[in-house]
Amino acid sequence: MTGTVYKSTGSWYTIKTNLGAVYQCRIKGKFRLKGIKSTNPIAVGDVVDFELETNNDTTTGVINTIHDRKNYIVRKSVNLSKQTHVIASNIDQVFLLITIDNPPTFTSFIDRFLVTAEAYSIKTVLLFNKIDTYNNTTLDEVKYLAHVYRKIGYECIGVSAVTGKNVDKVKALMTDKVSMFAGHSGVGKSTLVNAIEPDLDLKTKAISTQHSQGQHTTTFAEMFDLSFGAKIIDTPGIKGFGIVDMDKEEIGDYFPEFFELKQDCKFNNCLHKEEPKCAVKAALDNDEVSYSRYRSYLQILEGEDEHYRTDNWED
Ligand code: GDP
Ligand code: ZN
Repeated sequence: MTGTVYKSTGSWYTIKTNLGAVYQCRIKGKFRLKGIKSTNPIAVGDVVDFELETNNDTTTGVINTIHDRKNYIVRKSVNLSKQTHVIASNIDQVFLLITIDNPPTFTSFIDRFLVTAEAYSIKTVLLFNKIDTYNNTTLDEVKYLAHVYRKIGYECIGVSAVTGKNVDKVKALMTDKVSMFAGHSGVGKSTLVNAIEPDLDLKTKAISTQHSQGQHTTTFAEMFDLSFGAKIIDTPGIKGFGIVDMDKEEIGDYFPEFFELKQDCKFNNCLHKEEPKCAVKAALDNDEVSYSRYRSYLQILEGEDEHYRTDNWED
């Protein structure tokens, strides 16, 4: 049988088949994923094959195969610094919620998020939430940011989780897809999910366990089926995607607007800093590349905003 992992609590996995049947499954013996060193072999979103086993009238499943992942997001394990933990896999899109104030979302945060999502091959849609609260100045800011990010290929939608403005557009994008919601604490993720599916109360459904040793809270991701054919993966307490270890040369590849320009840089390993005849810097001078994007790029390149790294992505 084949199914999708909806929940994982360490040793047991809740798996749903295409027909909607739910099984509790586990792994037997040594089960290793090719190429990935992670503390968990199987994550929410994984598609797996399993066989049923009946013991004392209880039927459970034994997972024997994991299908190739389209993508997956990881977090560094806190205690085992070199090990990673796969949070979720096979994600179609992530909605990044942005607010201008209350709380402010800085462009450095947005850009670092987008770089990571690009590195993970996950499509991002930018949702400017709380538009019901904005005045002319803050609305101008939304318009400007939407212009900057639309120009480089990101879909941008102004929404209000409270008035319901454009929530239908978000729902249309979500239909038949697996989505995640990200953004700072307080931007309105729970309120928006509630506006999308009123009966789904993530706060009470999400599982969260506190390890007795150390203060770190481990939160488990969980997938939910929504009434209109959408799936969401909830990752309580995780506002972003952690950070992928990237080579300096690689970072520019995750800025879509740099990618084509790069062909015209004199050096093919150009970091777009001090190099002569750099097409990215020329585009910056012509206003074709946004200054705030370029500044974020330099920050990531220099590792200046270290506080956005690894576990600080968790609230
Ligand atoms: P989360 O931490 O991202 O899940 O944010 P919440 O959903 O808990 O929202 C934080 C606060 O912002 C709550 O008081 C919400 O009522 C409020 N809020 C969320 N979305 C909107 C919105 O679109 N408009 C207004 N005015 N308030 C909102
Ligand atoms: Zn260059």
